[in-house]
Amino acid sequence: MNIIPRAFLSEYTTFQLGGPCRDLINCEDPDQLESVVTNLFREGAPFILIGGGSNLVVSDTGVDCAVVRYVASSPLIEVDGDELIVSGSTALDDLVIAAIDEGLEGLNTCSGIPGTVGGAIVGNAGAFGKQVGDVLKSVTLLARDGQKLVKDAAYCGFSYRNSRLKETGDIVLGARFALKPGNRANLAKERAEILAIRHEKHPDLKTFPCAGSFFRNVEPTSSAGRRQAAGWFLEQAGGKDLRAGGAGIFPKHANIIVKGENCTAQDVHELHLQMKRIVKERFDLDLVREVRFVGEFAGKSPQIRDVIW
Ligand SMILES: Cc1cc2nc3c(=O)[nH]c(=O)nc-3n(C[C@H](O)[C@H](O)[C@H](O)COP(=O)(O)OP(=O)(O)OC[C@H]3O[C@@H](n4cnc5c(N)ncnc54)[C@H](O)[C@@H]3O)c2cc1C
Repeated sequence: MNIIPRAFLSEYTTFQLGGPCRDLINCEDPDQLESVVTNLFREGAPFILIGGGSNLVVSDTGVDCAVVRYVASSPLIEVDGDELIVSGSTALDDLVIAAIDEGLEGLNTCSGIPGTVGGAIVGNAGAFGKQVGDVLKSVTLLARDGQKLVKDAAYCGFSYRNSRLKETGDIVLGARFALKPGNRANLAKERAEILAIRHEKHPDLKTFPCAGSFFRNVEPTSSAGRRQAAGWFLEQAGGKDLRAGGAGIFPKHANIIVKGENCTAQDVHELHLQMKRIVKERFDLDLVREVRFVGEFAGKSPQIRDVIW
């Protein structure tokens, strides 16, 4: 565990935006995290928890509290038959690779998604119509008071890109995934195909820092319908040409905001409001955000008191 005072969160988020926090406390494994959270609770010290920072826009002024960062430098995974037991700090993509190495099927479509297993469970991350919640068996959670609980997947209340853990604030210490035997060569081939598609369609974070899709895809209006890409509505409404300061739209995908020169977090906030506005005006549709904001922004509703929102 190491502590960095006044760390800039721009160094710990894929958007590369965000001011300082009080202390950045790096934790690699469940034991470290449990002891840090218990101590912070005892001291009454406010904190937020982040993983890979791949779904966040942190405000330019940063946050006036400690930030616990739960990221492992190498995967912490145990194999138990067809089940994988993993720390919440492990990179999701490392878990996918481990599943393929073991010839286990169920997580392959998550190939290439940035971030940690903990972040993926909280946001029910996924792609190609499947998400982590589909194969999660149980989670080990840490409540804000440092109490440890093991819960089955149903407790997480998964829905599309969402779980009830966002509301409870429970921390995912670790998880158990129940997978099915598969063919290792076929899984590896499928992974390579998925990575090629992602490489073609998604921004390279080195050139285009971002947090992935900004808004969730749009729920069908009838049970027979399919979810529709938020990017389609944005593109139809003319979203690809929008700009706010240094924030622009990724040329290949109208639902991805990218950081340009001199971009601030406030620029990203303003651009996302413009995107919402044009879709509302054209389709009378309220886009729901997937990316989470952290801290204070001009234009933030005074009713929102949470640090992560
Ligand atoms: C280029 C790019 C492509 C992407 N593609 C996809 C995609 O295909 N599908 C998809 O679903 N997402 C995608 N994303 C978004 C992002 O990768 C996922 O949302 C990811 O699961 C976030 O994990 P993280 O560890 O980075 O979480 P963070 O961004 O660090 O945090 C996100 C939220 O999770 C909470 N959190 C993090 N770790 C824990 C934990 N251990 N316990 C409790 N809460 C925690 C944080 O408090 C915060 O509220 C993409 C992002 C980028 C940049």
